[in-house]
Amino acid sequence: KKYTREEILELVEEEDVEFIRLQFTDIFGMMKNMAITTSQLEKALDNKCMFDGSSIEGYARVEETDMYLYPDLDTFEIFPWRPQQGKVARLICDIYKPDGTPFERDPRYILRNVIAEAKEMGYTFFAKPECEFFLFDVDDKGLPTTHTNENAGYFDLGPLDFGENARRDMVLMLEEMGFVIEASHHESAPAQHEIDFQHDEVLKTADNIMTFKLVVKTIAKRHGLHATFMPKPTSGRHGSGMHINMFLKKDGKNVFEDKSDESGLSKEAYYFIAGLLKHIKAITFLANPIVNSYKRLVPGYEAPTYIAWSATDRTPLICIPTNQGDLTRIELTSPDSTSNPYLTLAACLKAGLDGIREQKMPTEKIDALPGNLLEATEEFEKDELIRSVLGDDFARKLIRVKKEEYQDYDMEVTQWEINKYLHRF
Ligand code: GLN
Ligand code: MG
Ligand code: MG
Ligand code: MG
Repeated sequence: KKYTREEILELVEEEDVEFIRLQFTDIFGMMKNMAITTSQLEKALDNKCMFDGSSIEGYARVEETDMYLYPDLDTFEIFPWRPQQGKVARLICDIYKPDGTPFERDPRYILRNVIAEAKEMGYTFFAKPECEFFLFDVDDKGLPTTHTNENAGYFDLGPLDFGENARRDMVLMLEEMGFVIEASHHESAPAQHEIDFQHDEVLKTADNIMTFKLVVKTIAKRHGLHATFMPKPTSGRHGSGMHINMFLKKDGKNVFEDKSDESGLSKEAYYFIAGLLKHIKAITFLANPIVNSYKRLVPGYEAPTYIAWSATDRTPLICIPTNQGDLTRIELTSPDSTSNPYLTLAACLKAGLDGIREQKMPTEKIDALPGNLLEATEEFEKDELIRSVLGDDFARKLIRVKKEEYQDYDMEVTQWEINKYLHRF
């Protein structure tokens, strides 16, 4: 345990914290928060803070009006970018119903369930994302654009890299909040960046991804830039992914490592890969949840399009980063940062555990990832195991919302069509 209740109360007093944000994540992966002043902190720590769930999209049901926020004490953090006086802190919360049981559509609860299943098998799941994003200009009204005057590429530095100072501030802020930053660099496309932080137990990693996006967006804004995690903001250029590195530990030891294997991988690692491959089409629905996600999963931009794995090549759907002993891991390259990290990681773990139970080696069969959001939705509908991660009620809701989203998009007449057809027909 990182903090006790008393320690949090003391810290708030000592550090002159004035506002506490009680944060949680909605079913679409958007961070939400209710702010309280420190006068309400004890009440919050007693799990007595309530909000109206019916106003949160995807929660809306009459009987779900009263929701309680149960702060996770380990997540207490003071935001380093606020002024010295009247500081702001946050607590990430679990969501409970008035009867004192967890709310079934709370993404944290869903991830906790799969974590418990892994624990029963003796495993702890570790994950590390590689989040890519663009730093675009804002217009004179302060609104985001997809414009940049920058022309830098992979690993370039200033003065070519216009985002260098912003990225540097992001790294420093994240470090102040306890992140261990392993690398940060310019990515392939102009104004595209990547910041990598260390692996952690999966619930912590999911929380970290939510915090990471908030910090990146906040600091970008301070630099007069707009940070976007949109998977493919401009056609004809690279998109932004969120590769996920993963491994399992048992009794404190990385069980994906086996020095006697030619790729350094254990049976468990191969089975885990097989499980991911088996369920990847349904996972795609969660890992690539918006229409635009599928504009990234096309050939020519270092993003995966086929269901394949390789121990040597670094671009397929699943690759094996060079063997690093205790950090031996597999890397899934399809997810993007618009996914709800709790749900995506829960689905990956569920699939991997299924592979371990089945004890099958991954095979080579050439098959494509879903080509659009509708295809992914249909794959998710068909995959009982991955659907069970969310539970029937939640799964049905998400399927309906995503089908509507796709249909809405599908009926739109796009600029591409106007350019292509208007003068010819
Ligand atoms: N941007 C690529 C993607 O869409 C990844 C490029 C890289 O990390 N080398 O996943
Ligand atoms: Mg990387
Ligand atoms: Mg990258
Ligand atoms: Mg990678």
